[in-house]
Amino acid sequence: MMDNAKRIAIIGAGPAGLATAIYLKRAGHNVVVFDQFETVKPVGSGLLIQPTGLTVLNDLGIAHKLVALGQRIDRLHGVSAGTGRPVLAVDYDKTGKRFGVAVHRAALFGVLHEAASYDGVEIRTSVTVSAVSQDQYGAYLVKNGELDRGETWDLVVDTSGALSEIRTSIFPDQKRRSLQYGAFWATLDWTNPDNKSGGFREDALQQCYYKASVMIGILPIGRQRVGGKKKVAFFWSLKPEDVDVVKTKGLEAWKDDVRSYWPEVEPYLEQIKSFEDLTFAKYGHLTVKQPYHGRCVFVGDSAHSTSPQLGQGANMALLDARALAFALSRNDDFAEALKNYAVSRRLHLKLFQSLSLLLTPFYQSDSHLIPLLRDVLMSSVAKVPPMPSLLSHMVCGTLVDPYSKIGLQECDLTKILDTQITLSDGVAAK
Ligand SMILES: Cc1cc2nc3c(=O)[nH]c(=O)nc-3n(C[C@H](O)[C@H](O)[C@H](O)COP(=O)(O)OP(=O)(O)OC[C@H]3O[C@@H](n4cnc5c(N)ncnc54)[C@H](O)[C@@H]3O)c2cc1C
Repeated sequence: MMDNAKRIAIIGAGPAGLATAIYLKRAGHNVVVFDQFETVKPVGSGLLIQPTGLTVLNDLGIAHKLVALGQRIDRLHGVSAGTGRPVLAVDYDKTGKRFGVAVHRAALFGVLHEAASYDGVEIRTSVTVSAVSQDQYGAYLVKNGELDRGETWDLVVDTSGALSEIRTSIFPDQKRRSLQYGAFWATLDWTNPDNKSGGFREDALQQCYYKASVMIGILPIGRQRVGGKKKVAFFWSLKPEDVDVVKTKGLEAWKDDVRSYWPEVEPYLEQIKSFEDLTFAKYGHLTVKQPYHGRCVFVGDSAHSTSPQLGQGANMALLDARALAFALSRNDDFAEALKNYAVSRRLHLKLFQSLSLLLTPFYQSDSHLIPLLRDVLMSSVAKVPPMPSLLSHMVCGTLVDPYSKIGLQECDLTKILDTQITLSDGVAAK
């Protein structure tokens, strides 16, 4: 153990928590992760890991494991319901050097959890941490409703996600704004019966819109585990207040509604047997003004959450984890290190949080005008250079450089693909 090893509590075993734990454990600190679940587990369906997130996972030495499970995505494609007219067409990179990898949350969780366990990170489950108390000696956790003064922490990293109670207790005035639309999500088996006549592409996120009030999506996400079935994430936009209305009308009425916009999704609708197969996710938006307070620092969704429209949340959480580890490695003074962490992420976060807020109504809102503008812009201006490149950088998470301030360079994604072949063969052979 290094001389200046610190006792660090990490609250939450999501992507931000596990990535932070791996980095800080490898840096020689005493790290304990707390999670509310009895058994740590991921909640939800699919995620798109962008070149930014892949670069962090590659830095941790585990990107190839995720790529082996997930589905390479080269393009985002959206059509207008009824006309079939393309209204979203973004290529990651025509040369094939940059791409996203869509994964089931369980796959990302599994890869991070395996690495954390291998590195000896201690994970304590069934502990809900709702607040952090601090004095001149250190920080203490409020665990399952009781302040525990028996353990003193040099640093608490709050990675408990968008609904963080710790954040709310420290910054009660900074409130998460609920977004108008959420979505039903389901993980279904990948099926492509109509491949010959142009059915769903495996290398694309495909969406169908009617104005901005209807958005249906299909995202192939590969396998949850080696040897498992290939899956897709299916989603359907919905306002929280309409969930009960839809359920009261019944499953068949809802399916009729979906197929009236996009009949091609029938093979997926057939797999949905009850509303229990659909999980409703609410979306909200918040960026904390300063992601630290004394010995407590906020990483991932607890510091910034938004609608998943741009597919950046988990990627930003991974970048944050690297940024915090980098800042701590360069400064023994916590106050200074946490300030540097915040500064290193500020511009990138500000840009993507603003873009998400600005663009979400183009895809999820009751407006008639905004989607009209979207359709006109996407079929005209979006095709004129430099727009394709800008759109690609937006999707990749690289409209501004997220790397240099946190001591990273974008990795060669094609090399991860090469590693994948060896690994998946090895794992499959076991
Ligand atoms: C439907 C949907 C689709 C999305 N799609 C994408 C996408 O395509 N690409 C992308 O990059 N991002 C996407 N996101 C966003 C992404 O899921 C989040 O940004 C990411 O999960 C944030 O990771 P995190 O570790 O900060 O928080 P979380 O993943 O929320 O993890 C928080 C952890 O903390 C634990 N916890 C919570 N409260 C407590 C407590 N009080 N005490 C102890 N433990 C606690 C939880 O059990 C959980 O394990 C999507 C989000 C949603 C809802």
